[in-house]
Amino acid sequence: ATVDRLKSFTGPCLLADGTRIPLRANVGDGAQARAAAAAGAEGVGLLRTEFCFLDRDTEPSVEEQAEAYGQVFAAFDDHKVVVRTLDAGADKPLPFLTDTDEPNPALGVRGFRTSRKALGVLERQLEAIAVAAAKHAVTVHVMAPMIATADEARQFSELVHAAGLPVAGVMVEVPSAALRAALILDEVEFASIGTNDLTQYVMASDRMLGGLAELSDSWQPAVLQLIGMTASQGAGAEKSVGVCGEAAADPALAVVLVGLGVTSLSMAPRALPAVAEVLAGVTVEQARQIARRALAARGPAEAKAAVRADLPILN
Ligand code: PEP
Ligand code: MG
Repeated sequence: ATVDRLKSFTGPCLLADGTRIPLRANVGDGAQARAAAAAGAEGVGLLRTEFCFLDRDTEPSVEEQAEAYGQVFAAFDDHKVVVRTLDAGADKPLPFLTDTDEPNPALGVRGFRTSRKALGVLERQLEAIAVAAAKHAVTVHVMAPMIATADEARQFSELVHAAGLPVAGVMVEVPSAALRAALILDEVEFASIGTNDLTQYVMASDRMLGGLAELSDSWQPAVLQLIGMTASQGAGAEKSVGVCGEAAADPALAVVLVGLGVTSLSMAPRALPAVAEVLAGVTVEQARQIARRALAARGPAEAKAAVRADLPILN
């Protein structure tokens, strides 16, 4: 019976006390979006737009971009789709946008920072998103990657609104943004924590190096503490703070994230059923208790063991 349940997730995802935690999908193109819709995702929490154009040497035209985004929107009519603007650089180089000669690409001109150098690329992308959004019944939210300061959040928000798009948000994946989330949330409507990069920058541990796996682990209590700080600042501002990094796809960690105050999760579609099933077995109060145990651990292994001991469904 467990296996049958795990295959089918039909949403919405409810905790044992009825609290709703939307589970959305991370996708990179229209085909993945259709698969995510079939898997039961309640919308897209992260459209990695750079994945649509990884093979391109030149900037795609507004029309080409609108066509690519429209394919994703078409799969999720009547749902929410969060479009991330181009996150070029470091692990995701785009020849038309990034400089490959930087000594430290992960700390260089990547994500939102490219818009200072490559004038017009972000504006044209926002225009394409608006063109595609006008043709579909989706609720389109737009968010910027690699935001480090409230000023950057404000610049992004102004560009989004100038393009006629109503809702701007930011990713929280740089520690400064997590520490100063309240000020950043004064500028935008929502935040989505990118745990892959947040972990990399909190632990100073390159996400591309397999040999650093123990440090590059989102179960590191220091990472969890910053996630909790971000979520609390979101609650104070009455704005939603989701997680769209790989951490959301780990069912035990998903419980911790909810316990830390995260309001939605976005993940690879194949993870949806298992995450929904584990969340359905806990109340918010239990999730908070479990999160406190993880925060009190000395390291990732101890945190995982403590949380698993509290989640019999995983054992
Ligand atoms: C992240 O950093 O956690 C994230 C979701 O973005 P990406 O993995 O595309 O950098
Ligand atoms: Mg990232």
